[in-house]
Amino acid sequence: MHWVVACCLCLGVLPIFVTSSLDFGYHNTQLLEAYLKNINAAYPDITYLHSIGKSVEGKDLWVIIVGRNPKTHIVGIPEFKYVANMHGNEAVGRELMLHLVDYLVTNYKSDPVISDLINKTRIHIMPSMNPDGFESSASTCESLTGRYNKNNYDLNRNFPDAFQRNLAPIQPETKAVMDWLQTETFVLSANFHGGAMVASYPYDNANSSTNRISPDNDVFIYLAKLYANTHATMYKGTVCSTDSFPNGITNGFQWYPVQGGMQDYNYIYSQCMEITLEVSCCKYPDASTIQGHWNDNKAAMIEYMKQVHIGIKGQVFDITGKPVQNAIVEIVNRQHICPYLTNQHGEYYLLLLPGNYSLNVTVPGTSILKNIYIPQSQKFSAMQYNFTVSVPVNSTASSVNTMCPRASTQSPFAPDPEDGGIALNAGLLPFLLSTVIMLLLTNQ
Ligand SMILES: [Zn+2]
Repeated sequence: MHWVVACCLCLGVLPIFVTSSLDFGYHNTQLLEAYLKNINAAYPDITYLHSIGKSVEGKDLWVIIVGRNPKTHIVGIPEFKYVANMHGNEAVGRELMLHLVDYLVTNYKSDPVISDLINKTRIHIMPSMNPDGFESSASTCESLTGRYNKNNYDLNRNFPDAFQRNLAPIQPETKAVMDWLQTETFVLSANFHGGAMVASYPYDNANSSTNRISPDNDVFIYLAKLYANTHATMYKGTVCSTDSFPNGITNGFQWYPVQGGMQDYNYIYSQCMEITLEVSCCKYPDASTIQGHWNDNKAAMIEYMKQVHIGIKGQVFDITGKPVQNAIVEIVNRQHICPYLTNQHGEYYLLLLPGNYSLNVTVPGTSILKNIYIPQSQKFSAMQYNFTVSVPVNSTASSVNTMCPRASTQSPFAPDPEDGGIALNAGLLPFLLSTVIMLLLTNQ
């Protein structure tokens, strides 16, 4: 923290401007808040700071948004996010977030790549999902002190799980993130951890080793490899003493099953592809290592953000020209557990590698099947393709994906893979069922 900021904090007043770049040290809750507020004050045109809720102890869960229109979603501009420090004792990610914010705002308009990224992406950065845990952490490599929230729950075991009953009561920090996910159409995300050096991708949980593979496995492997390969050492796969990860990546379930994890929740219930980045062998290393960690991760963090622009995006309109909310937009043979739906602007975003695909758009009463070639993304934009269906559609205003099997955010669902429900995760059944339900609704 710059001395001006630190001194002002000692005097109990908020400094107005950050006059130099961020220092390489750990920033407690007070310093972190002051830094974010000052960045927001210094760069009001491209940042927006808000709290998405409170921790158990009442600390704000800050998110700073960086973008050309930071306060609102613009049609065609994808929403990206980074979340760190959900395990309070895994501290490196928390500082990486602050340095990323610093790097983005200070390079806007001087670095053409960063300028393009900010102009064409809305970037949400949450430095700490578990500020209570961080404050109570032991500054050691292995200790679990501070990992959990103040109610002693592991936040990365606290989300509704599509594969298994999760009896843990949903914690305030988890609920805040779940609510946040409903307010934006997040497309791509990563969450930062420590204790290993690897990029881990969904699924984190499964009913069997055969369905640990998601329908977007190719894209997830691409994303994980991209981060690992751009990172200074992660690609080696053997950086930490216990690591043995070919290419520095792993399927989460294959590494070890995680019940109630955040990345599966993002992907399954929020249409947001998320990977988990383990970025330090030591969970809470000495502050003197932070600059090195930043140098190791900086390029990977930037490259990963750019990937929100791969694939295809567009809008679905009805015959009257009105955007259709909750139209199902899915690639054939790539149906998700919860079908991907258009948002309130009729928008869809599908992250895909270049190639030929059949894209299916379904609304009550009709559907469109379109063969499409998706090229490499260029100029910070996915390929754009809009659809117009041949019928008028009265869109349902619900932001909840009602076709999501057992997607209750309030109560855990029963594990029952033998009833033909969730167990067929990557199969066609959920998609067919949802289509039938929509057709039935049309007939009422
Ligand atoms: Zn962790």
